Amino acid sequence: MRISELFKNGRTVFSLEIFPPKKNKGDINTIYQTLDGLKNIKPDFISVTYGAGGNLADSSTADICRIIKDKYGITPLAHLTCVNNTREDIDSILEMLKNYGIENILALRGDINPNISPKHDFEHASDLVSYIKSHGDFGVSAACYPEGHIQSASLVDDILNLKTKVEAGAEHLVSQLFFDNSYFYEFREKARIAGINVPIEAGIMPVLNKSQIERMVSMCGASLPPKFSKMCSRFADNPEALREAGIAYAVDQIIDLISNNVDGIHLYTMNNPYVAGKIFDAINSMR
Ligand code: FAD
Repeated sequence: MRISELFKNGRTVFSLEIFPPKKNKGDINTIYQTLDGLKNIKPDFISVTYGAGGNLADSSTADICRIIKDKYGITPLAHLTCVNNTREDIDSILEMLKNYGIENILALRGDINPNISPKHDFEHASDLVSYIKSHGDFGVSAACYPEGHIQSASLVDDILNLKTKVEAGAEHLVSQLFFDNSYFYEFREKARIAGINVPIEAGIMPVLNKSQIERMVSMCGASLPPKFSKMCSRFADNPEALREAGIAYAVDQIIDLISNNVDGIHLYTMNNPYVAGKIFDAINSMR
């Protein structure tokens, strides 16, 4: 199933994101525990990250996408970054995805890791998008940034670059996480004015613990509204309370987004089925 097709049935799309288990924290088989926990949600698709944080990746993204498709019967979306890959590397990954019957790719540049010299076959995600479109029959998605990408001079500059990415063939966009919906609405309006008319899913990350949020925010630059910061400080030493407050905050964000006709919700699950399940149960009847 092509992901762009999912947006044609009139319901708010609900998708999940997981990451491959870290090599030193057990082998790839631990992913079954995550997926067993997530399968009851029956998400529209599950995306699997690729070497996040600018680290080098291996075949685990493709392997997990195959498991999602063949064992769980759910549409997978394979993330793929180009910053550390040559054209030959990308060719062999595309070949593997095709052989596994994986139809959808989230094409990304990837973060630049100061300890790894970038390859220069693809400078921007838009180069990867057009390369994938001309080298296979894949549905291609791309990332977007409600507050502007951290390297961008302005939101308008970033949206103009986003338009290039869509014109190169991206059929669906997934947003960076944000905690203040007003950034998403302003971004969506500007994107539509710029002529970007593909579905835009809102990326929502429930806070699980304080260090997770500090890490994510330092990487992506998302603003923290006072209400959110107060919640994190108030429950910083009570992980259970913070987790439950984080679920309530995410549910509140999602209800507002659905009320404002968002195309889809993309939940960054952090491989935590409990939290994903609670959020899904709270919002499913509203989609
Ligand atoms: P690009 O679209 O190339 O944009 C990067 C910067 O370059 C932006 O500032 C943009 O405005 C600018 N730019 C783009 N095109 C041009 C141009 N033609 N000329 C001049 N400037 C230009 N990282 C991982 O390593 N693995 C993952 O699995 C992963 N998954 C992600 C999923 C989502 C939904 C999101 C939002 C991010 C994800 N990331 C992941 C992080 C992502 O790789 C970084 O944010 C990265 O810094 C930018 O990637 P991009 O694809 O948006 O790049």
